[in-house]
Amino acid sequence: MPKDFLKDARDFYDVVVIGSGLAGLTSANILARAGHSVLLLEHHYQLGGMATWFKRKGGHIFDISLHGFPIGMIKSCRKYWTKEIADSIVQLKGIRFENPQFSLRTTFDREDFTSKLVNQFGIPPETVTRFFDRARGMNFYDDQSMTTRELFEEFFPGRSDVVRMLMEPITYANGSTLDDPAITYGIVFSNFMSKGVYTFQGGTDALVTKMKEEMLKNGVDLRIRCLVEKIEVTPDRKVAAVHVNGRRIGCRAIVSNANLKSTIFKLVGEEHLDPAYVEEARAVRLNNSSCQVYMGLKPGMGFDNVGDLLFHSEHSGFDVNAMLSKQVSSRTFSFYYPETRPGSDRWLIVSSTNANYRDWVDIPEEQYEADKAALIEGTLNCLEQYVPNIREKLDYLEASTPRTFQHYTLHQQGASFGTKFEGLKVSKELPQQISGLYHAGSVGIIMSGWLGAVNYGVIVANDVDKELVKSAVPV
Ligand SMILES: Cc1cc2nc3c(=O)[nH]c(=O)nc-3n(C[C@H](O)[C@H](O)[C@H](O)COP(=O)(O)OP(=O)(O)OC[C@H]3O[C@@H](n4cnc5c(N)ncnc54)[C@H](O)[C@@H]3O)c2cc1C
Repeated sequence: MPKDFLKDARDFYDVVVIGSGLAGLTSANILARAGHSVLLLEHHYQLGGMATWFKRKGGHIFDISLHGFPIGMIKSCRKYWTKEIADSIVQLKGIRFENPQFSLRTTFDREDFTSKLVNQFGIPPETVTRFFDRARGMNFYDDQSMTTRELFEEFFPGRSDVVRMLMEPITYANGSTLDDPAITYGIVFSNFMSKGVYTFQGGTDALVTKMKEEMLKNGVDLRIRCLVEKIEVTPDRKVAAVHVNGRRIGCRAIVSNANLKSTIFKLVGEEHLDPAYVEEARAVRLNNSSCQVYMGLKPGMGFDNVGDLLFHSEHSGFDVNAMLSKQVSSRTFSFYYPETRPGSDRWLIVSSTNANYRDWVDIPEEQYEADKAALIEGTLNCLEQYVPNIREKLDYLEASTPRTFQHYTLHQQGASFGTKFEGLKVSKELPQQISGLYHAGSVGIIMSGWLGAVNYGVIVANDVDKELVKSAVPV
């Protein structure tokens, strides 16, 4: 008999959350804390979505997306999770850029950026101040027609080196380009570059374990290996139930943390939605995907501190297409020292590159394997300049591609950061199409990444709570 992953699950919950990415987990926790009955369904055997890790023989634990997030995570985790989680968030101080235009180390905060822009790049201090103030003052309701390219042209005309320093980390962090609305850059830049880059000490496994404990304490019914196949909608367009692992489970509200387009076109079906909304949703562009190379060193074997995050590029200037190309010329290296997991004797390195899904699908299996081997080889060749003799120190090597991300998270085209900007409006308007149906998860650039996902989970949970309270039948 196959295991029943829904054993003892009820037939009805106030809320069903589909997916356990950071937005799904946060929504589930807040809603359970508010007293609603919550069922969380995750198709994978592990919680976390992209915020995840994997273990390999020899005791290696690799984190997928624990490269860095803004300081705002401390406040969000304290308020919506626990003090213990918030207290494990620590700053990464060694951020490095190495490229043909400049070589520098920064603590990635306003003060240090100002000093670099003025002293190393020769930008007048008042221009830097105006730029930071402008970026910080941007908000969602501003003019959305100005592009990031135009913003940079206004402040730093002809300075591709400055654009590179200010833009490259953001492109790695959320896939955005110079053609995206300037407000997306402003919001993310202000979050990220105000007070540095942070990480979770203990690793993603420790974080998600603590989140799981908290959810269980608050009464969330957590189920892994549960693939939601359908969201059932009534003829008058209200959510009725989810269909999962051959069962129908009724509910008053659903929060879908699955990819926005999958939620609309696969789980709901366009026949339940206004044609104009369907058209808008169809036009939403997915964000790019990623490739990673995971390198585990032999126990106890390490290297001198080379920084925490290294933005390496051989390309002459900032070029999004070059960053996405399979002919890799730009990589971000994350160096994990034993302090990442206190008590461990492991040094690990993860190299990440942005990638196009189309470059990795529809190729013969042999070619796919050969391309992965080439990705690993190219990464090691590059890394040797920072960590000499890396090949001799290595114990374990593995690569992931857009296909891997699609497989584990079901994001269409392995999208690492959800959708482009236009996805946010479509995501927010879903409850107006189907009463009781909400989407929370990486969309619109500003709602992606660890902080964006957590915060969107909070916003949506509050909307759901309000609606449930309003529509509650008085006893
Ligand atoms: C390589 C890489 C590096 C990154 N690095 C960083 C970083 O350093 N800092 C940062 O802030 N962000 C980073 N990110 C982005 C960040 O990890 C994500 O934006 C964030 O974790 C996404 O959270 P989410 O809530 O949108 O859900 P996701 O993580 O996308 O999770 C969605 C969940 O829904 C589940 N699901 C989908 N469909 C179904 C279904 N039908 N039934 C059941 N379950 C379903 C999936 O299995 C998955 O668990 C990185 C991403 C990648 C890929």
